[in-house]
Amino acid sequence: MKRHLVISLFLVLGLTMAQADNVFTEDLGLNIPLDSAAVDSEGDELEELDDIDVKSSQLPECLAGLFSHDTLILGCDLDLLPNKIIVRTKDGDVIYKIAPQFLLDTNLINHHPADSIYRFLWTDERVNPYGTMFDSLKDDVHIPMSGFRLPHPGYVTSPYGWRRNRMHKGTDIKVQVGDSIRSAWAGQVRIVGWDPRGYGYFVVVRHENGLETVYGHLSRPMVDEYEMVPAGYVLGLGGNTGRSTGSHLHWEIRYLGEAINPANVVDFGSGQLKNANEYVIGIKAMKQARAEAAARKYHKVRSGDTLSGIAKKYGTTVKKLCALNGIKETKILQIGMKIRVR
Ligand SMILES: [Zn+2]
Repeated sequence: MKRHLVISLFLVLGLTMAQADNVFTEDLGLNIPLDSAAVDSEGDELEELDDIDVKSSQLPECLAGLFSHDTLILGCDLDLLPNKIIVRTKDGDVIYKIAPQFLLDTNLINHHPADSIYRFLWTDERVNPYGTMFDSLKDDVHIPMSGFRLPHPGYVTSPYGWRRNRMHKGTDIKVQVGDSIRSAWAGQVRIVGWDPRGYGYFVVVRHENGLETVYGHLSRPMVDEYEMVPAGYVLGLGGNTGRSTGSHLHWEIRYLGEAINPANVVDFGSGQLKNANEYVIGIKAMKQARAEAAARKYHKVRSGDTLSGIAKKYGTTVKKLCALNGIKETKILQIGMKIRVR
């Protein structure tokens, strides 16, 4: 029986990040309003780069069920985009062996164990280009932890979690400008990026264990995209670039694009893994947390607004508003501040 199998390999369209040309990070830093509560090394990131949903229709069909280690059926016609080369498969052909011969960019398919999780999706356009792939997970995921190296030994200046009215998707660790920032596990560099209003200079590594890690606010990245790095390899130097006040490392751990609290994985006091063997990603809990985050609603204070007026408008009480926002009923509202109402 002859089967026609079209394998479309293309990059998911994403935001093109601004290039570093002619941009002085010091100048940009001055334009960012500092929160009065900000301490010397508190960091903050815009989430614009990764919060734009990729519609599932933009994902190649083949991603739904084909892995690069799958053995192909004899006589398949592979349509290898973007080169439009049709390959008639031979007995025993495996996608990851065939594709590099015909693609200009052989790195679109890498020989990486994490392929079984990320399939063919490899792009430097976005931190999270994975669309709805995480949503399709049902069972908890067990991640092997061996080979871990702490990216930098420093105290936590700002934890993962909600900060004011935004989700802080990483852990901030105190560093001095020029300190070595190391890869947490072995892997391959997916992005060396520049995000002047957010991460600053940053590096994203896809690890063999399936996790991806992000290292932000670097003064200088020292790796190239596609580079294979061992655990502990110096990815760059710590800094204060992007949306950052005071030098620190913004470190994220992600799985299929979804951020995991690094403090669940690492005990930052000792610098050791909480469980040296494996980390179990509780898919149900993560989805629930995300749903709760999506349900949050904020009100931007306008002239004449009062807590009781806002409470009335959103069908809640002043007491609840105060609890949600960690404020007192006597709090003086400033125009433009955001009050969480749900
Ligand atoms: Zn941060």
